[in-house]
Order: sequence, then structure tokens, then C-alpha cells
Amino acid sequence: MENRLINPLERQDDGVDSNIRPGTLAEYIGQPVVREQMEVFIEAARRRQEALDHTLIFGPPGLGKTTLANIIAREMGGNLRSTSGPVLERAGDLAAMLTNLEEGDVLFIDEIHRLSPVIEEILYPAMEDFQLDIMIGEGPAARSIKLDLPPFTLVAATTRAGLLTSPLRDRFGIVQRLEFYNIEDLTTIVSRSARLMNVEMTAEGAVEVARRSRGTPRIANRLLRRVRDYAEVKSNGKVTGDIADSALDMLAVDRRGLDHLDRRYIEMVHARFDGGPAGVEAIAAAMAEDRGTLEDVIEPYLIQQGYVLRTARGRVLTQMAIDQL
Ligand code: ADP
Repeated sequence: MENRLINPLERQDDGVDSNIRPGTLAEYIGQPVVREQMEVFIEAARRRQEALDHTLIFGPPGLGKTTLANIIAREMGGNLRSTSGPVLERAGDLAAMLTNLEEGDVLFIDEIHRLSPVIEEILYPAMEDFQLDIMIGEGPAARSIKLDLPPFTLVAATTRAGLLTSPLRDRFGIVQRLEFYNIEDLTTIVSRSARLMNVEMTAEGAVEVARRSRGTPRIANRLLRRVRDYAEVKSNGKVTGDIADSALDMLAVDRRGLDHLDRRYIEMVHARFDGGPAGVEAIAAAMAEDRGTLEDVIEPYLIQQGYVLRTARGRVLTQMAIDQL
């Protein structure tokens, strides 16, 4: 998993891309529905001089959830404070974050589906009434304190909306679902990144990279970096369609953007389960991957592209997947 070039999960070498991450809604490419709605909601909140409603963003990794949270904070003129579900272990962790907020700030909680129930309880009054209600001390000396919080916006991201408890989900006024990007939008993203990275690239080069990016901007930017290396070493640095093509072949990313994990998934369901239906646990066990990885990282793209169907009795390969083999 770690070495998977087109794994949409963030890797350390993605860190350098702070200069290519879009900073405004206008620069946020694709996702027309999300963009249009957020433009209206942000503008309305700004005119009323209120905090934007709490916003839940869901979708597979690498599609731009963190980027959107950053943009919301920036467009609302507040600071962004970031944390994540698994990091918030104790009540005090969340209390510290909440009491440090200033009016109009955005609190970003990534992986909100991994929040512990105790923390969730504290979040409810904070979201609803901007109140922090917390117990301090233990035993007979314990007492509860209530603090007023400044109006803020909670922006939460998750790869699995289905894992959220309904009281939590119901407290978000705005819910946005990010979709995989089409080739055209990915091509625009790749061209923009190339420009910002001072990489000379032809339109064909950008399309080649876009086509093999699994509908995911994070992967597109990562492939662009590797293609640039290839162009610099094997040629004069200019990324043409042919150069991109050879570079990506060398990296074993096929034209549909499927890589060895996707192919292994398809092969496994075909060989072991006769094309399905097969339960996700059984497929995960057969592949020696955990179920979460399958459901968050591998399956969403295969399902969206029409290789796999999710049925009540399990996963089923489509003819298209079988033709692929
Ligand atoms: P997530 O939080 O969903 O895992 P990120 O917000 O970290 O994904 O996005 C990964 C990278 O992809 C970002 O660093 C950014 O450069 C790029 N990216 C994401 N969405 C867009 C977009 N709509 N337009 C351009 N680039 C994007």
C-alpha cells in the first residue's frame, strides 16, 4: 500500500504542494455543484456578518476536502484551526481547541467519523449554541463548567458519511459530497500545477497524466512530479504526450488509471469468488488488506468507473472488469 504511486492517501512527498493548492473558490477546479452552492452560502453569511453554517464534506481521499476547508476559512476571513478525529482523544484536547477560537474562525476536523463518543457529546452544544460544557476533576470534587464560545464554523471531512452518527450528521447545516473529477477537469488541474511548478508541458502531456489519475487531483499532482523527473532525465524537460506516456508506462500506471492494487482486486474477485457476489470482508482477507482500505481507497473508483457493483449480497464484477483481465 505505502508504495502505491496512485494511492490517493496523502504521502510525505505531497507536502511540497502547498504552492499548488488552490487558495480561493475561483481557483477550485471542477465540482461545479459544490462550488456554486458554497459561493452562495459564503456570500450570504458574509453579508449577514455571521459565521457560515457548520459544513460536512465527504468523499474519497485526495479529492479536495482539506483544500475546500482552507478556502472556506480564507473566504470567510477567519483562521483555520485543524485537527482530526483520531487526534482528539480526551475532552481536554477538544476544549483547548474550542477555547482558542476567535469569532469567524473555522475549526477543521478531518476524519470526523473517528471521533470518540465522549468528544462527540462535547461537540453538540458547541455546534448548536456555541457553548462548551465540560466536567473538570473527578469524584466528589468534579464540577461542570459552561463557557461561551465565539461564533465559529465547524468544517468536518470524512471518507465515510455512513459511519457518522445521525445526531452528529444532523447538526451540519451544509453537507457537500465531492465526486471523482472528469478528465477535462483533471487536465485543467495538471496544466495549472505544471504552470505553477514551471514545468513545460503540452496539452497532450496534461491529458495523458489526467487520464491516469483515478479521478483524483492528489494523484494527478503526484504523477505530474514523477513525469517531470522522467522528462528532465530522459529528454529536455518538456512533457509531451509521448514523454508522459512512456513515463507512466514505466511507473506501471495503465491508461485507465488502474494500478496493481485495482488489478489485484479484480483478479481476486474473479479467481476466488467467481466474479462475485463476494463479501467485502472476504475480499479484504483474500487480499491481505484491511476492509477500510478496500472501502475507502480501492472500491469507490472501481464502482464509479463501472468495474464493480455493490449489491446487497456483496461485490460483483461487471463484464467490463472481466474484459480487462
Ligand atoms: P483530501 O482532503 O480530500 O484528501 P486535499 O484537499 O488534501 O484532499 O487535496 C489533495 C491535493 O489535490 C491538494 O493539495 C490540491 O493541490 C489538489 N486539489 C484538490 N482539489 C482540487 C481542485 N478542486 N482544484 C485543484 N486542485 C485540487
